[in-house]
Amino acid sequence: MPDSPRFSIVTYGCQMNEHDSEIMAGLLATRGMARIEDPTAADVVLFNTCTVRDGAEHRAYARAESLKSAKRANPEMIIALCGCAAQDKGLELLEMFPHIDLVVGTRDYVKIDQLVDEVRRTGQRLVAIDDLDKPLSLPTIPARKSGLKAFVNIMFGCNNRCTFCIVPQTRGEEYSRPLEEIVAEVEGLAAQGFREVCLLGQNVNSYADANRNDFADLLRAIDAIEGIWRIRYTTSNPKSARDRHLNAIADCPKVMENLHLPVQSGNNRVLREMKRAYNIERYRKLVGIYRELCPSGSLSTDMIVGFPTETEEEFQDTLRLTEEIRYDQQFMFMYSPRRGTVAADSMRNDVTLAEKKDRLGRLIELQESISLELNRAEIGRVHEVLVEGPSRRGDDMMGRTRTDKTVIVPGDSSLAGRIVDVRISEAWAHTLKGEVLVPAGAR
Ligand code: SF4
Repeated sequence: MPDSPRFSIVTYGCQMNEHDSEIMAGLLATRGMARIEDPTAADVVLFNTCTVRDGAEHRAYARAESLKSAKRANPEMIIALCGCAAQDKGLELLEMFPHIDLVVGTRDYVKIDQLVDEVRRTGQRLVAIDDLDKPLSLPTIPARKSGLKAFVNIMFGCNNRCTFCIVPQTRGEEYSRPLEEIVAEVEGLAAQGFREVCLLGQNVNSYADANRNDFADLLRAIDAIEGIWRIRYTTSNPKSARDRHLNAIADCPKVMENLHLPVQSGNNRVLREMKRAYNIERYRKLVGIYRELCPSGSLSTDMIVGFPTETEEEFQDTLRLTEEIRYDQQFMFMYSPRRGTVAADSMRNDVTLAEKKDRLGRLIELQESISLELNRAEIGRVHEVLVEGPSRRGDDMMGRTRTDKTVIVPGDSSLAGRIVDVRISEAWAHTLKGEVLVPAGAR
């Protein structure tokens, strides 16, 4: 090991995984380790895996496999598989990958520093998979990537049993952090200069702490914290949506006007097979309430095509719903069987891959045309934009509207971290471009 050991983390999957990686990075940094991007040059490499789709899980395995020669060159390198696949497969992963040293589940990543020490001290390979019933106590030192926006866990796990989803097996039962603890974390973030928080949970709107505070109470409490400008949250579940949550979203000025409400299918029989516990009529009603309360708000969703037994006519309902609701954005997926779920283990997976690809292609085409139309309608309007940093190409700056649309603006790093008014001048399906109206008046 060199004097200053270096670690690298490769993260797959959702924002919760991103934040778990920030927590692990914070823990390793307290041991004097420096983070680098290149896993082949690191002394400790963590793969934070996702099991929601087959592709993400296997990409993580392939990447871990590709480190074999780096490990031969540096036998002291410690390689760990963490996250949902680790929780799900445990010891099996050590058998599959003889060069892996450590398998760390979704309750154990909060002691990654100790686990790495133990492997180094004993030279033994290790599986750390605690019982999912065990409460998770979070360390308070995540190494957040940005100094402006912070993820904040408000709850863990999921009590639903959607038939396609492996998350309840890998993340356990729902547990909500006490409201006071979350408020204290956000106050600390505000004091450090963070201006936007994104509240994370599998079903944020089923948040309920031991003192009976619900998601509406939490939003109102965070809205009152000085120094915080913007509050986002993900993911909401239509099953748990209540008028009081939607009212709080509309009432709290710092809560952004963007609702991500995953519907998954436009057909009631498919929703029943998925065990989503709502129907399209209920979903439509929720969207109606949201749009009445937040007329300028944006709406996004998740959609699965090719769920077992989904017929072409049922898929047409998904297209019809897409046309009716006119989402600003959709995250669209082909159904991917996950071992251990009801859909994979006991349903007829009779939609062929070719049919799934065809349905996905048609849905994407429709959604892209709607996103483009909605974005073009923004041309000429003025949006409040929080400038986050350089654009991907690096020659402009990039920010987000309150409705969570990406906006490119000309300017330099003096705009970063400021809220500015931007008049939209160009639009594509996924991005807007505009001119800053009053840079000096920014916060
Ligand atoms: S609500 Fe359903 S899809 Fe979401 S995490 Fe829970 S089981 Fe999975």
